[in-house]
Amino acid sequence: MVIEILPDDVVAQIAAGEVVERPASVVKELVENSIDADSTSIHIEVSGGGRRLIRVTDNGHGIHTDEVERAFLRHATSKLRIIDDLYRMQTLGFRGEALASIASVSHVTLVTRHKADQTGLRLRLEGGRIAQQQAVGAPSGTTITVENLFFNTPARLKFLKSENTEKRQIVSVITRYAMAYPHIRFVLEQDGRENFRSSGSGQLADVVVQALGLETFKNMVEVGGQEIGSDGSITAVYGYASMPNLHRTDRTRIMLFVNGRAIQDTSLTYAVIQAYHTLLMNGKYPVAILMIELPTQEVDVNVHPTKAEVRFRDGNTVFVAVQRAVRTAVIGHAQTPAMRGGYYNAQGGTASSSAWSSTAHEGQETANQLDMDLSLRDPGQYPRQQPISQNAATAIPEGMGTPAKPRTLPVLRVVGQVGATYIVAEGPAGLYLIDQHAAHERILYEQFMDTYGQERQMTQHTLGSQTVNFSPEEAHLLEGNLDLLRAIGFTLEPFGPNTFVIRGVPAILADSDPLEVVSSIPQDLELGKKPGHESVEDKIILRVCKQAAVKAGQILSLREMQSLIQQLERCRSPHTCPHGRPTILHMTSDQLAREFGRMH
Ligand code: ADP
Ligand code: MG
Repeated sequence: MVIEILPDDVVAQIAAGEVVERPASVVKELVENSIDADSTSIHIEVSGGGRRLIRVTDNGHGIHTDEVERAFLRHATSKLRIIDDLYRMQTLGFRGEALASIASVSHVTLVTRHKADQTGLRLRLEGGRIAQQQAVGAPSGTTITVENLFFNTPARLKFLKSENTEKRQIVSVITRYAMAYPHIRFVLEQDGRENFRSSGSGQLADVVVQALGLETFKNMVEVGGQEIGSDGSITAVYGYASMPNLHRTDRTRIMLFVNGRAIQDTSLTYAVIQAYHTLLMNGKYPVAILMIELPTQEVDVNVHPTKAEVRFRDGNTVFVAVQRAVRTAVIGHAQTPAMRGGYYNAQGGTASSSAWSSTAHEGQETANQLDMDLSLRDPGQYPRQQPISQNAATAIPEGMGTPAKPRTLPVLRVVGQVGATYIVAEGPAGLYLIDQHAAHERILYEQFMDTYGQERQMTQHTLGSQTVNFSPEEAHLLEGNLDLLRAIGFTLEPFGPNTFVIRGVPAILADSDPLEVVSSIPQDLELGKKPGHESVEDKIILRVCKQAAVKAGQILSLREMQSLIQQLERCRSPHTCPHGRPTILHMTSDQLAREFGRMH
């Protein structure tokens, strides 16, 4: 083999592979350039999922005629001079690679006029080589048209996803930038159809409505918070996050931005998910749009060619900032899911299964949403449900000597029990149905967590000497975790090979058979070690609460129901059980009136 230096165009194509992976990456780079050029309006036209044509037109400052050619050279940039600039970066671009890369794998036509110049320039490049150049009259700003993407790299073409996937990716790129730059007006057209439009009002709320729909937005709460790092630098987090009744089956709607840049970050995504701990069921994920702002020297944006990932100097502070801000916002607003209207099916008169559902079906509206053109301005005008805790400030004194915790639910009057499973109650705002088991789990969980780690009195010593037998692996696992189990309230003593005596159990299990919980502990110990899972302690505590809670099918006396409701009224997060399932469904007086035809 002879070692040879690669010709320039091959080098360019190889390099292009890093930055221009797919049509959506071209859109991203061009839009970033338009934003960096101080545009207030950016128009994006796409056809054939970006393979046939991508055209981005902006009203930014434009490029001087004598610099246009240079803009297409590799490592040509107006944004960075010395390496230290990286840590003061205010612009989205800095690598000077995008235009060169895009041009090397497509046909590019650029028309630009710098705002200080009289005439503009039209330049055409084919596979990176200049094919045509002429002076033209043009409005100030820049239009770049990219055609026949990857025409000279057939291998890359083969790897492209379907046209529809690309179209969706492009919508996702544009909506994200629109959120990060609410004062810029974005219009996206694909195959002659308007896909998305933002008003450029400067309000993030407007863009969220325009991108995700009013229904989704109504189920989100405003997030705002900040954290001070060890060196005194401030990380601010703001945006919107879904209330627990709005969720999705994947994480794709957790959108994170750092200093105006959409980023991917597994750890921060997890911070958001954790903020919903015990509020969302397993496998359900929130919707969140979060802007993270911190001093530029705290972030390294140069870790990824497409700049999709960043590195934080103090990742922990950022993690805490995100988690705390979201948690505070969501807990403050968690509310009883209202039973949705249309309880009876219009045609058949049978109860529709979704009528009492507590879930806002967020995914379904997006397709139509893209056609929406709402020019709403004032974020205050969007109707929002009031958190119940606000209209129930008057606390009634609770049992003997317990300091009255603030009320998180209105005062509810128990009416009765249905199917030995649900409690029917009346409140100021209508009818409430409470799942007795889920509600009791929530109560026990919060009680447990309040005392956990502070005292030892939670252990109830058992009189008999019940023994449990495990497999050798399980026994080994238990043996290594006896201290942890003791902290939760389980006193287990080794007793012969793979066998343990139960000497004590958490006090709340006093009345139930501990065997079931104890036998499943090894399973929790096993799972809890995997990243992304709840901690072992948490899993076991959840199991204990589940076991101790009243079951469905158990008939309760009026007093028992009243006591349960009173305790639920004081829970910090009364609306979901610790597994994230709803504890309460609410049908408002209005909904009742509507269903009974009393409202027209
Ligand atoms: P980078 O953005 O990293 O600087 P690019 O290859 O994307 O590199 O762009 C090269 C240069 O071309 C930019 O630094 C900028 O000066 C100029 N440029 C590109 N697009 C535009 C635009 N839409 N408006 C004004 N200038 C632009
Ligand atoms: Mg750029």
